[in-house]
Amino acid sequence: YAAAILALLLLGYAAALARTRVLRTQREALEQRVAERTAELDAANARLLDLSYRDALTGLSNRRRLLETLERTPAGATTALVFFDVDHFKVLNDRHGHPAGDEVLRRIVQALLSCTPADALLARYGGEEFACLLPGIDAMQATAVAERMRAAVESMSVQIPDGPQDARVSVSAGVASRILRTLEDRQRLLRDADVALYQAKGEGRNCVRTSAG
Ligand code: GH3
Ligand code: MG
Ligand code: MG
Repeated sequence: YAAAILALLLLGYAAALARTRVLRTQREALEQRVAERTAELDAANARLLDLSYRDALTGLSNRRRLLETLERTPAGATTALVFFDVDHFKVLNDRHGHPAGDEVLRRIVQALLSCTPADALLARYGGEEFACLLPGIDAMQATAVAERMRAAVESMSVQIPDGPQDARVSVSAGVASRILRTLEDRQRLLRDADVALYQAKGEGRNCVRTSAG
């Protein structure tokens, strides 16, 4: 009788052991799936965050990235800003169509990037406007950089499908630089570069103008 009870107990113990092992295996599998899903979600979130700061057409940083970077510039740092605007771009779009215009924008970005300093941030600011944030340099140095970027666009030839095979495009640029301390300094930098850009437009386009600050 005692032996029967012992056997039963042992059987129960073995069953409990087996059940525990099954549960542990299931829990480990579940934990693994949760870890995988979490890693997938993290990657998706990182990708979404990156997309929210990127321009889809050109792959450049977008206006949000530029403005946030400007906002975070350490107080007391000299920072230059260049605004570029493609000249007579509407005419090109009207003549050759929007897809051709898109392709020209991408080519312009390549030309601008070829002369963008490594520590600078080039962003698509709006439709056919680009902005370049140049840390640590004054207006004269920034003007030289902007001039090289402008010249790179001017010297490039663009093939337009069903259009001229050696089309020329140009950009106008406005430069400003100042020591940034307050939010107002940052707003003034944006305004000064914009005013200088309008001056470049007014004075014939395909040129660089610099704000006196
Ligand atoms: P300006 O020299 O005075 O700057 O003349 P503009 O023709 O370049 O300026 P305007 O502001 O009159 O026209 C800008 C044009 O840029 C109009 C708009 O259709 C075009 N544009 C803006 N964004 C895009 C884009 O993503 N793709 C294409 N293809 N065109 C765009
Ligand atoms: Mg414009
Ligand atoms: Mg334009």
